[in-house]
Amino acid sequence: MRQVYLNGQYLPETEAKVSIFDRGFVFGDAVYEVTAVLEGKLIDFAGHLARLHRSLSELDMPFSMDDASLLAVHRELLSLNQVDEGLVYLQVTRGAADRDFLFPAADTPNTIVLFTQKKKFSDKTPEQLAMRVITLEDQRWLRCDIKTVQLLYSSMAKNIAKKAGADDAWLVRDGLITEGSSSNAYIVTADGAIVTRGISNLILSGITRAAVLECARELGLRLEERAFDVAEAKAAKEAFITSATTFVSPVVQIDDAAIGDGKPGPVAARLREIYLARSRQAAI
Ligand code: PMP
Repeated sequence: MRQVYLNGQYLPETEAKVSIFDRGFVFGDAVYEVTAVLEGKLIDFAGHLARLHRSLSELDMPFSMDDASLLAVHRELLSLNQVDEGLVYLQVTRGAADRDFLFPAADTPNTIVLFTQKKKFSDKTPEQLAMRVITLEDQRWLRCDIKTVQLLYSSMAKNIAKKAGADDAWLVRDGLITEGSSSNAYIVTADGAIVTRGISNLILSGITRAAVLECARELGLRLEERAFDVAEAKAAKEAFITSATTFVSPVVQIDDAAIGDGKPGPVAARLREIYLARSRQAAI
């Protein structure tokens, strides 16, 4: 049985229990991170830790576990569960307290949960990865830059996409694409520029996004961090997404429009290859 981590203890998953008063459960008052694992090692871990601290700080959520201990728990779980490829999920809540909109006392202990999932995702061909997306109105709150567990609209969006026969949704606010339901969104224009929405409160600052943009810069590709609308996306030469668990994955259809020739494009394939190679090298 899978071993998980809860508040200082390693337990079989069926024995890890959290209070019904936990603010993560009652208010969605919790933040999380997902780190990919390749060859038993953590990808972009420093970036995920940095974003975790930012999310906590934006929510004024006290948290006292240090980075070295967090790393040690990630590694211990990978070892206990013999995870070669997959992910580590980390969630921190404001802890358990009588239900009250006001935050509890600052010394209320956090609930800290980590678990692993085995998943084989590094050896897929571009054809296997190819995704079709639909566009949907972005009905999320205005702090999408904080990685909270309030994922209901994202979950709804993915389900609406599935019902429509697609793989995922790209979200649209004021006519402009923000991001995917759980990924950052990109297009490649006819003249070869990679375009993705600039960082703001309307999107999550993806750790994979930062790393992939760095790869693109090193390759000398032209980057434009700006908004783009649905029409521009549909007319693009290529489209793709990035996230910790999809790395770089091609998008071949947006609503009813085939992107480019309707096949996975070369820019996404190249970026995926380089990102994966670099990540394997830098993994800890
Ligand atoms: N945007 C959203 C809304 C997400 O949920 C995710 C994945 N957590 C991302 C972007 C991609 O972020 P990352 O590359 O850090 O996984």
